[in-house]
Amino acid sequence: MKNKLSPMMQQYMDLKEQYEDCILFFRLGDFYEMFFEDAKLASRELGITLTGRDCGQADRAPMCGVPHHSSENYINKLIKKGYKVAICEQVEDPKQAKGIVKRDVVRIVTPGTNLNMQSLDESKNNYLMSIFGNKDNYGVALVDITTGDFLVTEVNEKRKLIDEIGKFYPTEIICNKDIIVCADFIRELKDRFHVYISEEEEWYFDYGRCVGNIKEQFGVGTIDGLGIKEFNQGVCAVGSLLEYLYKTQKSNISHITKLIPYLTDSYMMVDLSSKRNLELVETLREKERRGSLLWVLDKTKTAMGSRLLRKWIEQPLLSKTNIEDRLDGVEELKNKPIISEELKEFLNPIYDLERLMSKISLKTANCRDLIAFKTSLEMLPFIKKLLNECNADYITKIKDTFDDLRDIYDLIDKGIINDPPISVKDGGIIKESYHPQVDKLREAGTRGKQWIAELEAKEKELTGIKNLKIKFNKVFGYYIDVTKSYLDLVPDRYVRKQTLANSERYITPELKEMENTIMGAEEKIVALEYELFVELRNKVAKEVDRIKDTAYKVAILDVITSLADVAIKYNYVRPVLSNDGAIDIKDGRHPVVEKMMNNEMFIANDTYLNKMDSRFSIITGPNMAGKSTYMRQVALIVLMAQIGSFVPAGEAHIGIVDRIFTRVGASDDLASGQSTFMVEMTEVANILRNATSNSLLILDEIGRGTSTFDGLSIAWSVVEYIVNKKKIGAKTLFATHYHELTELEGKVDGVQNYCISVKEKGDDIIFLRKIIKGSTDNSYGVQVAKLAGVPLDVIDRAKVLLSELSNADIAKNTKIVCKDAVEEIATVKEEEINIEVPLEQEKEEKTEPVQLGLFDVMGNYN
Ligand code: ADP
Repeated sequence: MKNKLSPMMQQYMDLKEQYEDCILFFRLGDFYEMFFEDAKLASRELGITLTGRDCGQADRAPMCGVPHHSSENYINKLIKKGYKVAICEQVEDPKQAKGIVKRDVVRIVTPGTNLNMQSLDESKNNYLMSIFGNKDNYGVALVDITTGDFLVTEVNEKRKLIDEIGKFYPTEIICNKDIIVCADFIRELKDRFHVYISEEEEWYFDYGRCVGNIKEQFGVGTIDGLGIKEFNQGVCAVGSLLEYLYKTQKSNISHITKLIPYLTDSYMMVDLSSKRNLELVETLREKERRGSLLWVLDKTKTAMGSRLLRKWIEQPLLSKTNIEDRLDGVEELKNKPIISEELKEFLNPIYDLERLMSKISLKTANCRDLIAFKTSLEMLPFIKKLLNECNADYITKIKDTFDDLRDIYDLIDKGIINDPPISVKDGGIIKESYHPQVDKLREAGTRGKQWIAELEAKEKELTGIKNLKIKFNKVFGYYIDVTKSYLDLVPDRYVRKQTLANSERYITPELKEMENTIMGAEEKIVALEYELFVELRNKVAKEVDRIKDTAYKVAILDVITSLADVAIKYNYVRPVLSNDGAIDIKDGRHPVVEKMMNNEMFIANDTYLNKMDSRFSIITGPNMAGKSTYMRQVALIVLMAQIGSFVPAGEAHIGIVDRIFTRVGASDDLASGQSTFMVEMTEVANILRNATSNSLLILDEIGRGTSTFDGLSIAWSVVEYIVNKKKIGAKTLFATHYHELTELEGKVDGVQNYCISVKEKGDDIIFLRKIIKGSTDNSYGVQVAKLAGVPLDVIDRAKVLLSELSNADIAKNTKIVCKDAVEEIATVKEEEINIEVPLEQEKEEKTEPVQLGLFDVMGNYN
């Protein structure tokens, strides 16, 4: 079958065989062509015409193509849809080729290795992740080839693996085949993260091979000094990631110079659902940045700063010293507004140094990129000088080691003109006096042009043709242009080259001779300029470590300036940190809700939690009163404090917490195919298994997704388990409509009741939004329903039913009668309503769980 194909199609088929899982972009002239199934797929996905081409067989091969110059757009579209694209180029000069020109794949573009800056969000890293799973241990490595970031860790639970994925949101994952203990796992990841996942061959993860890759990439004789020796699975994840990069990039990835191992427990653990629930970097429903904490805090000026701030938010710190360091920096800039204003001005013109640096290393940077790079470097000495005015250790440490890269600035400044063309292969890019040969050739070119002008004048005079002109085009080179009206004056020595409607074009031997000199010089100069440009770019590339170090420091300065800015603008205070486990917030506010409110006043609230008598707050109050806003605000204030930000409060004392868990709403997880209640319970299970006495828990209406008695029992036992110091003893805010739980105050050590106050006004209620001690047993559900616009008929009827149900008599086998249909809908037994919980026995042993009896399957309490 294959030998019937034309030689070129055979070449195509050979390559396609090697890159089966990619769409092959096959370079033919100015186009990339696709054939057969690839062509059908691409024409469908890209909306381009499907044609055909003779391929040596009876039927024409389906074909479609995209122009080479606009191919990036098409490639990006395919990548976004989750395909991989293999780019195949001619790899020898057609003039020198014997027979068919050699072609080969020069790069594979995949979602995680896309280098196209236009299609990437500059405020986010574009991570490629490798997971090597072995039993319940997972090595996780991440790389962003656009910035050179390279990280590795290990986790020992599937759930933690999911948290890591949720932290970095990679666009592509590679993993070993064994990882798929159950086939659903990959589907689950795809559904949750919309990520492209491929299972790679086992040899990718071979330990020896992986160690070899690591040694080669980082130029070391042993991996001992890289801090990854303990990470057996991690080594395989890193090595396989490198293997994948070698396979897809095929070029040098020398800008990846550093591997950063990290332990998941060196940061505050914020599991995936809490990250979503607290809307740290995007909103829960719309998945938008507006409305998230990042949106409030991000006033950064550079792309690097913006990415770093996101990392800080996703990885709050645990070390008091490190947090205080950051806070010192923020405070200093907050107190020196003139300096921070100036700093912002210098940060503003700085382009994305990290991504530009990667382009330089990967040899895809053009002259304009180098000029953008230079413009950015120009700001560095000013920034360094400004830092002299600061005293905070955090900032002076940056200043003392701040490399302003002056030599690299000078190098580009001397070499490349300020407004270069996009193409690096057409000349006109190297500055005067940079290289003597360039100057010489340029002079020859200029002299030649002068000579042409002189020749034109001379010929005009000799022939008497007044409008004689010497022109140039790419096909004929230089020629003499004579309009029709002067044709009779054309001398014999002119050789006619072309006749146009209004003029004739001629050449002379003299003109052609000069043309050779000029063109020769131009050809040489274009080649030399390109050579010089590449040399210069390589020189810059060699300084990758210095440049990345400075870029990182710029990013830090940008982030702390942003946090100082936000602190001033929104009136935040510096939190006082401790390790005493107490959280004492006066007049706390929700940073996002507060910012979203138009002209309305956000009502500030206090919070007090400690490890002793006030570790568990049971919060009651009607829907819409502000319970979840309040609880989230506490979590956000703690988290903000631990990233080193000032916080929205009058005063805040924050005992550092090791983990934040939240359990609120379930709308987000419906995609996982589980019922709301199942999702809720899975999350509760996770919390109960992983929370410690240093954690902060936010639990909103646990147990509401099932029948009242089931729900109450579960909520109750969850409270007992958490509050028990021998089990967990975590600080907890627990909102509930089960008023029965407020009975626990005074009976179980650590529990305090709070409620959000409302004021009754006739039939309606007014939300006061103030949290006060005590509890409420009124949910005001009917009033809230009225506020929501439920028709008055329904409201009135609900009121009647409510008062009937509240009436003690109803509990005695009373039939509730449907208003219109006079139909029996329910029989409520006394035992089902009046739950008398024998709590007295608990008075002595307060730290132990309350000994409750059990509800039987009918919901009766025994
Ligand atoms: P609940 O959880 O009790 O049902 P929410 O926390 O969802 O109530 O609050 C409902 C709405 O009330 C919020 O969307 C917000 O607009 C407003 N709100 C909540 N807390 C406050 C506050 N402290 N000050 C002003 N408005 C608030």
